[in-house]
Amino acid sequence: MTDYIVRATAAEGQIRAFASTTRELVETARAAHNTSPVATAALGRLLTAAGMMGVMMKGEKDLLTIKIQGDGPIGGLTVTADAKGDVKGYVFNPGVMLPPNAKGKLDVGGALGVGVLSVIRDVGLKEPYVGQTILVTGEIAEDLTYYYATSEQTPSSVALGVLMNTDNTVRQAGGFMIQLMPGASDEIVTKLERTLGEITSITSLLDAGNSPEMILEHILGEFGLEILDRLPTRFVCNCTKDRVEKAIVSIGKKEIQEMIDDGKSIEVNCHFCNKHYEFTVEELRELLEQAK
Ligand SMILES: [Zn+2]
Repeated sequence: MTDYIVRATAAEGQIRAFASTTRELVETARAAHNTSPVATAALGRLLTAAGMMGVMMKGEKDLLTIKIQGDGPIGGLTVTADAKGDVKGYVFNPGVMLPPNAKGKLDVGGALGVGVLSVIRDVGLKEPYVGQTILVTGEIAEDLTYYYATSEQTPSSVALGVLMNTDNTVRQAGGFMIQLMPGASDEIVTKLERTLGEITSITSLLDAGNSPEMILEHILGEFGLEILDRLPTRFVCNCTKDRVEKAIVSIGKKEIQEMIDDGKSIEVNCHFCNKHYEFTVEELRELLEQAK
């Protein structure tokens, strides 16, 4: 497998850690949505995070959704992940172009602007668990770090990165999440902060040939790193024509009748993967029968 997530612990369970490499996943998302470089970076970072946050869930049917809404030109993003490392998602305005930021990097923070990050976990209870925070920088990794600190009381260090080739395809993508479990000692916190402070960027580590395991070893080696498992992570959508039909039926008789009156086939795109589904007037008539 080329893309995967490593799950690990260190310091006798006082630290839990995830690291992933997601080049193929992000490139699949980029190709599906034809995203501009800054939109690829935003979507790629959030999909990479969602993969790691998804595998933290226990149940096979558990579903994680992360939404970001901002007042910047990109508008926002929605991604989902399951507990097996499968992710999908989209940006509201995939064609956004912006000049690089002051550091010469893709300006994801500028593209998102001021806004809100929401994390929704549907773990089969009556109501999903929803946590919400404001965007701190809009660079996504910092926003998730802040989210974990304020909404889940879990001190975390989140790094996410997407590096582009000159032809705007994805060269490297990946990330890590290091979390302190309750009762972690001050000594561990101090040492960890020092090591993390020395890390320049996740994509430069990947680009230099480091695997996720090597990156975790670099950060957590002195704490007795224990790799628990490796899970594949992919961009994959579960949409089908059948599901799209149900969505059309749910919009109601009046609207479907209007489409029929137009006398043309309609095309419906899946938000998450941008796949096109065509419905002929004849098919719309069948759906009209099922609608209320
Ligand atoms: Zn789809």
